[in-house]
Amino acid sequence: MENFSVYISMRENLLGRCLPDYQVDEIPEDTVRIEGMTFLAGQQIVCNHCGSQFDKRTVKLQIEAYYCPACLNMGRVRSDQRLISLPQESFEPCDALVWQGKLTKYQAAISEKLIEAVAQKSQILVHAVTGAGKTEMMYAAVNEVLKVGGSVCIATPRIDVCIELHKRMTRDFTVAIALLHGEGDPYFRTPLVIATTHQLIRFREAFDLLIIDEVDAFPFRDNEMLYFAAKHARKPDSTLIYLTATSTDNLDKQVKSGQLQKVSLARRFHGNPLIVPKLLWQKKFKSELKKQRLTGFPLLIFAPEIDFGQQFAESLQIDFPDEKIGFVASTTENRLELVEQFRAQELTILISTTILERGVTFPKVDVFVYNSGHFNFTNSALVQIAGRVGRSPDRPTGLVYFFHLGRSKAMIRAVREIKEMNKLGGFKP
Ligand SMILES: [Zn+2]
Repeated sequence: MENFSVYISMRENLLGRCLPDYQVDEIPEDTVRIEGMTFLAGQQIVCNHCGSQFDKRTVKLQIEAYYCPACLNMGRVRSDQRLISLPQESFEPCDALVWQGKLTKYQAAISEKLIEAVAQKSQILVHAVTGAGKTEMMYAAVNEVLKVGGSVCIATPRIDVCIELHKRMTRDFTVAIALLHGEGDPYFRTPLVIATTHQLIRFREAFDLLIIDEVDAFPFRDNEMLYFAAKHARKPDSTLIYLTATSTDNLDKQVKSGQLQKVSLARRFHGNPLIVPKLLWQKKFKSELKKQRLTGFPLLIFAPEIDFGQQFAESLQIDFPDEKIGFVASTTENRLELVEQFRAQELTILISTTILERGVTFPKVDVFVYNSGHFNFTNSALVQIAGRVGRSPDRPTGLVYFFHLGRSKAMIRAVREIKEMNKLGGFKP
């Protein structure tokens, strides 16, 4: 859930922002006021915060006003209230990149393309395999913008990915970085912002460079509201970079029409191929689990649903009393703590819903997917899940087992895509 108590008093924190007026304590004189909603022809009404359209009869309040249900969890927008905004201003130019690592020649080639995109203020899609080192590839482009006093936002759908990214970039850049998500701290103005994609709704013409990471992930994928937010959050004359490990139909269409340039990186940063998932009948699950536990490598098991995952964790703990088993889902309060415990190998097995499908790295991990034919395991989720394995140079291999009751289209497509990327990277399939 996104946080809707973002009451702001400082004028500076309104620059490049767009908020319902009741969320701002003192509204400056020179504020730009936008109607909360606009009446269209016929019965239609459109929300100016998130771009969603409704038949106004379905969104009428008791009083003579209408509201937007689509962006409700970011603070209610009403037709009789205003959105307020102040034009973005420049930042103090700074050369903030202190990262000491080295890009592979493949990463460096993509990095050059991104710098070019910044210079040309164009739109570009980077299709990079899981574990390609996407974060480092965007560093130079980010720094180019900061150097001239511009502003940058990196948006990604998942809170866990935001937190991880913020940790890394705080280490690698000297500039202050705001971290915005529903469970986080209030906004303060910084030249570099890391935010969940939902938070983009709260910005207006703010960014010279907007990077949307994991664009294939729920809830951004083909989500009109968030495409609206991405368009309005950046300046009209700005750069947009999409990063993804699996392409989407919507993005492919934009590439075909020439709106979007596409570059691919088919190699992991350590040069080893992606692990191709093995499809196994579900009845083999326990015997394979026993075999895996003999190796001592940490095991991440994906379960399709929260309730099932919880019960599954409890029953496995009874069957395997020597293992320390944890369970995480979006509803788990101490999720980050459990993830850290698994990383520190205090937990030997971690069971997760798709919440951990992307953005997290566990060295030397093996991955099992239980009931991989379940509809929650989409093609892009399965590609991401498989991508958790083999990321560290000290163990570039590992197990990816999909346990199923019958092969789904998503499973077959995920395996095919992984093999194709390996071929593109010059590996024997
Ligand atoms: Zn709305």
